[in-house]
Amino acid sequence: MTVASGREPLMNFVGGEWQRSSSSSTRDVHNPATAQIIAVAPLSAAQEVDEVVQKAHQAFLEWRYVPVVDRIKPLFKLRELINQHIDELSKTITNECGKTFVESKAEWLRGLENIEVACGMPILQQGYSNEDIARGIDEHMFRQPLGVTAAITPFNFPGMIPLWFLPYAVATGNAFVLKPSEKVPMTSQYLFRLLEEAGFPKGILSLVNGGKDTVDALLDHPKVRAVSFVGSTPVAKYIYSRATANGKRAQCQGGAKNPAVVLPDADMDMATRILADSAFGCAGQRCLATSVAITVGSAKKDFTDRIIADATTRKTGYGLAEDVQMGPVIDNASRERIHGLVDTGVKEGGQLLVDGRGKKVDGDEFANGYFVHPTVLADVNPEATLAKTEVFGPVLSMMHVNTVQEAIELVNNRPFGNQACVFTSSGSAAREFRNKVDAGNVGINLGVAAPMAFFPFSGWNDSFFGDLHAQGRHGVEFYTQTKVVVERWPKEWSRQF
Ligand code: NAD
Repeated sequence: MTVASGREPLMNFVGGEWQRSSSSSTRDVHNPATAQIIAVAPLSAAQEVDEVVQKAHQAFLEWRYVPVVDRIKPLFKLRELINQHIDELSKTITNECGKTFVESKAEWLRGLENIEVACGMPILQQGYSNEDIARGIDEHMFRQPLGVTAAITPFNFPGMIPLWFLPYAVATGNAFVLKPSEKVPMTSQYLFRLLEEAGFPKGILSLVNGGKDTVDALLDHPKVRAVSFVGSTPVAKYIYSRATANGKRAQCQGGAKNPAVVLPDADMDMATRILADSAFGCAGQRCLATSVAITVGSAKKDFTDRIIADATTRKTGYGLAEDVQMGPVIDNASRERIHGLVDTGVKEGGQLLVDGRGKKVDGDEFANGYFVHPTVLADVNPEATLAKTEVFGPVLSMMHVNTVQEAIELVNNRPFGNQACVFTSSGSAAREFRNKVDAGNVGINLGVAAPMAFFPFSGWNDSFFGDLHAQGRHGVEFYTQTKVVVERWPKEWSRQF
């Protein structure tokens, strides 16, 4: 099938073979820096999902008996392959997602960590035993795989986020199906070429491109046992309800509105540098981006002056150009939404200190790109739309309070709980913040508190639906079911030696 742009849609990877989708529905993929179409994603239909899942299930029936030491061997190979191809993989992310080359490479490095952790599965998947829980009776717990598992991933980390799940799923003995974001499907094509080379048996890893209908088919398929999701909160809630109503395990990571508190005793130079990167890095499209800065007492003036200086000098442009520090947002709809939220912020009393809308970037070929430059608003009312809504763009809202306790109240006065940060040189203030703050990931003198792969990515409240998070030991538990065996072997049944 060829579509209006003259391009063949991208392929699915089904039962270990590349396959064209039979669906005639497609979505154009744009380079957000140029607005040009660079690929076409097929929107696969329900019967294609059924074929993917049936083949994955067949492959699982063999894979679950492959010893764990052999199941991790392709992951070692995958690690080498990603390292060999990391520059090209990173350019692919920049061209379809917009972030800078450095940011794209950083996400592969964080993804690689998860492969490395999952290579420890011979120890991580161990159960435990007790001898003689009663006289002559022993009890053991084993961790067994579930079957076919699926992940539905967002546009903003097309390399790293699939790797929050895939290595744990397959190393524990499951089959794994990825449904990447239809906005950034090219990175998964590249990753799956490497997975093919890494030596996993056919059908253990599958790629199905698509949108809502494709997702619904995965959520309803009786042979899909567990669903991982990362994306916006309304979709996370929907997926969690539908998957669990169908009897599946689900871990659904949602959106965020991350606050950072700056106390007067903070190292102001460091705090501003880190917070500017947190707010404007990846064009504000990180789920751990700081979007609200709360200054306490005399921190206000110094922090405000410095953040304005950073926001007005940060170079925005095409992510592969050398000196560029920030790329475009993902699409025009997103840019329009961000512009609208800034308007609302001003109408609701915010003071626009730096307006990043409508500014040009270098190079005629980028004139139509979806750029929003860093934007800063002060005196944003905690009840205003801008204070409560996820912007997912390079917009920092500032608020001011007089005490650390008031700051903690403000931090906790929101539905999300993905991350909260504090900047201070006081151990006791940091401790109080850490202890009382209502967020699953906490940064102390850090602006993006992204847990290492051997810790869970612990969103709370409206930022997470489920109980076991992605990564580390939580990943191992999510992808395994415990089997408890109580056994008795009476002596009189055995031949005596
Ligand atoms: P999104 O929710 O629009 O899409 C995510 C995935 O869900 C995509 O694969 C998409 O095809 C699918 N989808 C979209 N609408 C659907 C529907 N109605 N039914 C079924 N499936 C649907 O998210 P996005 O715009 O791609 O990503 C940005 C969002 O992801 C932000 O809210 C961000 O905070 C969040 N995010 C969260 C984390 C985290 O760890 N909590 C990490 C990264 C991104």
